[in-house]
Amino acid sequence: MKTIESVFVNGQFRKPHGTQVVKIMSPLDGEEIAQITYADEQDTLLAIEAAKAALPAFAASTKAERIAYLNRISVEIESRIDDLINATILEYGAPNERAKWANLIAATTFANQAKLLEDYAFTKQVNESSVVMEPIGIAALFTPWNAVAGSIAIKVAAAIAAGCTVILKPSEFGAWQAQIIMECIAAAGLPAGVVNMVNGDGAVITKPIMENEQVTKISFTGSTVVGKLLARQAVDTMKRVTLELGGKSANIILDDADLNQAIPMALQAAFMNNGQACIAGTRLLVPEAKIDEVKRLLTREAAQFVVGDPSIADAKIGPLASQKQFDRIQQYIQSGINEGAELLVGGMGKPEGLEKGYYVKPTIFIGVRNDMKIAREEIFGPVLSVLSYRTEDEAIKIANDSEYGLMAYVSSGEEARAQNVADQLKAGRVLINTLKHDPMAPFGGFKSSGIGRENGITGLEEYLEPKTIIK
Ligand code: NAD
Repeated sequence: MKTIESVFVNGQFRKPHGTQVVKIMSPLDGEEIAQITYADEQDTLLAIEAAKAALPAFAASTKAERIAYLNRISVEIESRIDDLINATILEYGAPNERAKWANLIAATTFANQAKLLEDYAFTKQVNESSVVMEPIGIAALFTPWNAVAGSIAIKVAAAIAAGCTVILKPSEFGAWQAQIIMECIAAAGLPAGVVNMVNGDGAVITKPIMENEQVTKISFTGSTVVGKLLARQAVDTMKRVTLELGGKSANIILDDADLNQAIPMALQAAFMNNGQACIAGTRLLVPEAKIDEVKRLLTREAAQFVVGDPSIADAKIGPLASQKQFDRIQQYIQSGINEGAELLVGGMGKPEGLEKGYYVKPTIFIGVRNDMKIAREEIFGPVLSVLSYRTEDEAIKIANDSEYGLMAYVSSGEEARAQNVADQLKAGRVLINTLKHDPMAPFGGFKSSGIGRENGITGLEEYLEPKTIIK
């Protein structure tokens, strides 16, 4: 049984002042695997003090010093990769391949920031002025449970690169993974107080942060509901805000696409990370004239997505992260049935032989209308809604008729045609005939999928405040 100290303040792991002890259950079998003692308001105030004390010296540190810290963190994460993969499987239920990718990308994110920093000019000439990009100050970083290492890395790396100090509030539902990442950051030898972590109940930790004028930046990745709540609270002290929120991404298969490629890719886009991915392509838009072939291929290819325990088998889909997630997905499947969508694959309940953990059946609905709940709301599990369209314009209209705009996918036999569709989509990223990730290009959403961007220079500049000097 693991015991997790949820507080890292002023360069040290400490026993929290908070006393609430919470069990961490493995999604693989519902058994207790660890206990975390939550941090409280007092712990958070200490973290703010430490970040405040460390800020002047760190904001004045050289680029070379910060590059060295970033590279060291990257190396530390690589050296703990097996621990991280193990924790991501046991605590979260990720398939092996995904667990490996998701944690290695955390290491490369720090290395990428270091590389980017080498060429970044903090002073630029703009017309007759010189513009100095100053560190924004103390950044409070909030991260979710479905991409623990990656979302911590993307924020902490940019904040360090900018010369900001940090209070990290990871998801309490990914405490083991967050703990290892924090140990890697600690092992890199940053000055005390530069990165602090308080893990615990969201509302409890958030309150003193939001009320504090010294905290000048929040970067939040999580649900749209909580993101909006924090943005409202942030405005009272005029904190700068970056929000990376939910999605309901459309995947348009054009009528000239090779379905033998497009359909397996569509399933991968929908079911990645056990379907618990903000970027999941969960609305599949297919030409009405091709629906029979689409159905045949979806049924055939879905059989490849074997559900199982990733700690003992090479499963493509593991369990959902929690009982709450399991219940949520069951409710959505029921809602699809109630609203008259047709079940093509999967359905309610657990797959045979996997009754103990939080496993669900990967599910595909066809005949979905865009006004159904399963087409409008982020389900956050392996449930794909298939909608059909008659014309390209109609496909674009359906794709854009969503509260969200994080990601979109287009498949076509002709790149120029796909590009023309991509130009008309309201989404922060559009992938054409690929599922590739570009870690240096901006990542973030239109509409309710967020505010601001992470990754690359755009991501770095979310932690910088421009000051114009005119002589
Ligand atoms: P969540 O909003 O429940 O939690 C995110 C963070 O906010 C956690 O640290 C949590 O402790 C904290 N929190 C929760 N309730 C709070 C409250 N009332 N006050 C203050 N803080 C609170 O999100 P989640 O369930 O952890 O993550 C899943 C969501 O994250 C999905 O909607 C997914 O799409 C989104 N997500 C977005 C991206 C992206 O880059 N756009 C990436 C990953 C996940």
